[in-house]
Amino acid sequence: VISAMLDRSLFRTELTELLGGRVRFDLTLARLTTMKIGGPVGALIFAEHREECHQVVTFLEKNRTPWRLIGRGSNVLAPDEGFDGALLALGDGFKTIEKSTDLSEGKVLVRAGAGLSLTRVADWCAARGLAGLEFAAGIPGCVGAAVLKNAGAWGSEMGAVVASVTVMSGREERTLPRSCLHFSYRSLRMAPVLPAPLIVAAVEFELRRSSTVAIREQMAYYHQLRREKQPLNQPSAGSFFKNPPALFAAELIESAGLKGLRVGDAQVSTRHANFFVNRGRATARQMIALMREVQQKVEKQHGVRLEPEVEVW
Ligand SMILES: Cc1cc2nc3c(=O)[nH]c(=O)nc-3n(C[C@H](O)[C@H](O)[C@H](O)COP(=O)(O)OP(=O)(O)OC[C@H]3O[C@@H](n4cnc5c(N)ncnc54)[C@H](O)[C@@H]3O)c2cc1C
Repeated sequence: VISAMLDRSLFRTELTELLGGRVRFDLTLARLTTMKIGGPVGALIFAEHREECHQVVTFLEKNRTPWRLIGRGSNVLAPDEGFDGALLALGDGFKTIEKSTDLSEGKVLVRAGAGLSLTRVADWCAARGLAGLEFAAGIPGCVGAAVLKNAGAWGSEMGAVVASVTVMSGREERTLPRSCLHFSYRSLRMAPVLPAPLIVAAVEFELRRSSTVAIREQMAYYHQLRREKQPLNQPSAGSFFKNPPALFAAELIESAGLKGLRVGDAQVSTRHANFFVNRGRATARQMIALMREVQQKVEKQHGVRLEPEVEVW
């Protein structure tokens, strides 16, 4: 499917004038997501700072062009038809990191731009002996999405270490302290201080002083667990379903005999039953058919309805 937008040369010219090299065309969602699935996108835009986000969004809305944020595309199942709109990614101005405050009792606040990868932030903190983000080693997303999703692993999660979140909407920016942030399993609800849609611009982490060696050892251990348990050599979006209360989606899928189940090139990983992998040419349609089949069979066998953790766009 060729998107109508891809043909709109005036749109391209104007966006290029506004952004220079920071806009790219002729990309597919398959290139922008870790599942490697999805059709063409109208444009991929890297916004450098708040004012540029505002200018771009104003331009897109004036042109009635739908837009949405993208980080590393590691939690998304994108449609085969693509997205006839613009994807906004946070550029270098959202990739700064600094120690902001030394608190008492060995606590330290670190402010990180939402466009940084979680792994970069975890490494930066490890190098300075700041503990708390070890669990994030190996989660392939950006800080912005990770906080919105309350990403977590090994019994910890973003909510445990986030001190504040800075969001923007239009030209406005607000920093929400922890009392305005309501974290729950893979989700964050924020007090409605600005009109939606909100862009997460930065996050402040509250970490504690420890030793670089101890932090790195813990991170290496988590990396090793991931290599042992997860199919990291195949495209996926991590855990496909949320764990139901007090249960594990992977165990429910495995005990229903569904490991290795395939629809075309979409497959329930033979290594980790809650990872759905793309064996090469999987389509979104195949992934969704696989999702439905797994949901039905698990519900029939265990009486539990699995809900996707992955965002189906
Ligand atoms: C191999 C693998 C392992 C994984 N392991 C884990 C794990 O252990 N724990 C876990 O929780 N997750 C895990 N994930 C899932 C995923 O990495 C996380 O959900 C991550 O936080 C998604 O970040 P992203 O930048 O890729 O977001 P994307 O997939 O790009 O976007 C996710 C959503 O956030 C929105 N968004 C992105 N940036 C912003 C922003 N700045 N402001 C507002 N909205 C924004 C997007 O529009 C989209 O709706 C794993 C994924 C893979 C592929």
